[in-house]
Amino acid sequence: MRVNILLACTECKRRNYATSKNKKNTTGRLEVKKYCPFDRKHTLHRESK
Ligand SMILES: [Zn+2]
Repeated sequence: MRVNILLACTECKRRNYATSKNKKNTTGRLEVKKYCPFDRKHTLHRESK
C-alpha cells in the first residue's frame, strides 16, 4: 500500500518534495538526502505530514 508523503528539509523546514512510500516496507520516518533550493545544497529531508 503506497501513501503520498511530503519531504521537508531538516535545515530550513521547508517542504520541497512530494513522493510516495510503501507503508509495509518503510517503517518509521523516511529520510532522504536531497537538494534544497533554499539552502542551495544537499540536506537531509524527512517525511512530514
Ligand atoms: Zn532547506
